[in-house]
Amino acid sequence: MKIIDLLRSGKPTYSFEFFPPRNFSSILELGINVGQLMKLSPSFISVTYGAGGSTQEASFDLTDYLQNKIGLTTMAHYTCINAQAAKVAKDLEHLSSINIENLILLRGDRPASADDQSVLKGDFQHASDLIRYASGTGKFCIGAAGYPEMHPESATREEDLRYLKYKVDQGADFIITQLFFDNNLYFDFVARARANGIETPIIPGIMPVTNFRQIRRFTQTCGASIPWQLEELLAPHQDHPDKTYQIGVDFAIKQCCELLSGGAPGLHFYTLNKSRATVDIFHALRGII
Ligand code: FAD
Repeated sequence: MKIIDLLRSGKPTYSFEFFPPRNFSSILELGINVGQLMKLSPSFISVTYGAGGSTQEASFDLTDYLQNKIGLTTMAHYTCINAQAAKVAKDLEHLSSINIENLILLRGDRPASADDQSVLKGDFQHASDLIRYASGTGKFCIGAAGYPEMHPESATREEDLRYLKYKVDQGADFIITQLFFDNNLYFDFVARARANGIETPIIPGIMPVTNFRQIRRFTQTCGASIPWQLEELLAPHQDHPDKTYQIGVDFAIKQCCELLSGGAPGLHFYTLNKSRATVDIFHALRGII
């Protein structure tokens, strides 16, 4: 099933993102959590791809397993930083051969150290190059990343949106956003996208806060912000996991309700391979999705 067809049906999609486990205990944990989340019958799920390289084979194995053994519509993440065209062609061929119809195509993060910039020798400089290539095969429904608070490398929001439009022009069928906590950022982003001729569905990416220090780290890395109201609620309880969990889940429930009633076409949950928060949010949203 192509995700764009699910989106066109008019019913909100809900999807869960996983990453490939790195060791035995995280394999067990993933299995248990996927089992819990499967009960929610998601519209689709997705498996991330490590631009750094160490887990790429595991990504494909997990994607294959979830699509073909579990039978869930599975979207593969795929990145192009430092990739050679021949490898990309082979990988996309492989994904198609294991019945993957949906991809989210990304550039991948640049290496942190300035010296490492010199290793950027791939055949594709931007996600748009990869999207153009994959779209040309005619085999895939393609997603692209969008940034309500703009990508940290972009000079301005206008420039950021110009390149997003370019990704759509090269063949992206839908957009999934970076995590955010202030819904005004999402609604403003969608309005600016529409004003710039981007008509594709824009699915908000949701990360429930279950660990305040972890979320601070994530937001600093990806250029997202934590609204002061949420920061004020969470800060006094950062050493109390149960309280943090409840505040984070209550906040996410409210956030998701507002997004859906404001017209968001679906919700994409960054699960971090856990299920409890997503299951709790989902139960609270029953009747809406
Ligand atoms: P691009 O679209 O190439 O944009 C990167 C920067 O370059 C932006 O500032 C953009 O404005 C600019 N730009 C774009 N095109 C041009 C151009 N033609 N000329 C000049 N500048 C340009 N990372 C992973 O490693 N694995 C994953 O599985 C993964 N999944 C993700 C899923 C989602 C939903 C999101 C939001 C992000 C994900 N990422 C993942 C992170 C992503 O790889 C990083 O955010 C990366 O830094 C940028 O990727 P991009 O596809 O947005 O790049």
